[in-house]
Amino acid sequence: MPLSRFLDLAVQIQQIPAPTFHETERGTFVRTLFEQEKLMDIHTDPLGNVYARLPGLGKTAPLVVSAHLDTVFPFSTPLAVTRTPEKITGPGIGDNSLAVASLFALLWRLRQEKHPLPGDLWLVANTGEEGLGDLRGMRAVVDRFGAQPLAYIVIEGMSFGKVYHRALGVRRYRISATTEGGHSWGSYGKPSAIHELAAFITRLTALPIPEKPRTSLNVGIIEGGTSINTIAPHASLDLDLRSENPKTLNALIRQVQALVEQATRPGVLFSAEIIGDRPAGEISPSHTLVSLALDCLNALDIYPQLNIGSTDANVPLSRGLPAICVGLTTGHGAHTVNEYIDLPPLEKGLAQLVMLVQRAFHELP
Ligand SMILES: [Zn+2]
Repeated sequence: MPLSRFLDLAVQIQQIPAPTFHETERGTFVRTLFEQEKLMDIHTDPLGNVYARLPGLGKTAPLVVSAHLDTVFPFSTPLAVTRTPEKITGPGIGDNSLAVASLFALLWRLRQEKHPLPGDLWLVANTGEEGLGDLRGMRAVVDRFGAQPLAYIVIEGMSFGKVYHRALGVRRYRISATTEGGHSWGSYGKPSAIHELAAFITRLTALPIPEKPRTSLNVGIIEGGTSINTIAPHASLDLDLRSENPKTLNALIRQVQALVEQATRPGVLFSAEIIGDRPAGEISPSHTLVSLALDCLNALDIYPQLNIGSTDANVPLSRGLPAICVGLTTGHGAHTVNEYIDLPPLEKGLAQLVMLVQRAFHELP
């Protein structure tokens, strides 16, 4: 199977817009391809996850390989790509069209070998990984398969060489300030939701954030107000909190909650709504699945790196189930319109995935 077939498919997938919560068209395209490949038990669940089964010999439990369909780009983003022998540039090409296409490249390579796998291979193109999707697609995938699979292997297009075996915990809030508002001159002196929220952000960003364990706090969006000469009756911010240590994350969450409570006073109402909760978890670096993934990279002369991240693998990892996330090639500019993937590493990236799947069936307990 030539790589060009794989790359052409990646571009075809990339050309179909798939903002989080709007993955239907891309999912339908993948489903049609699953049908053309004559896979078994093809179906789409209520969240838009598309499943297909490559039947094995039934001697082992199944393996689940997944890639997320959604992108961070709104419908208005131009999706034109430029191709050179060295790279392909285009929004979403690496994150995650390439990975979705690799479900098929994997299938084609496995079929070339003509030996059926010992167990069923489930290929899943899932929804809701990015942004406020909050891993909703993967939660449904793991609800469905539970502890039955040998492992969950999650593919991301652009992190080749990295093996994510630790799931970074993320908590997200929308924090809102509400006041009565009023005329900026006539009611001057009454509390403004914008002024209150700005003061709140100052207190928030003054919180001590440890470097070790690595922890972060980011106000990514602020909104509010109605006009220049109105005391703002409403303002809100979107806050993203992360830590590689779940206890540190929980401590930070408690501090933020305390600030929210303190910010409420007569005439000013503060409220916090959870808009994202990506659970933490991990498997040991000595787990067979992790050492297997490292072995596959070593066998291809790629120096592997153990990593922590916030990926679909968070869901199975947080439930104590064996899972890793691996990449296919290198690249740059994920989540920007200048995103590109490097083509030279891709042959090894795919070889790694094929080897990982084959060996997982034989070596995982
Ligand atoms: Zn991704």
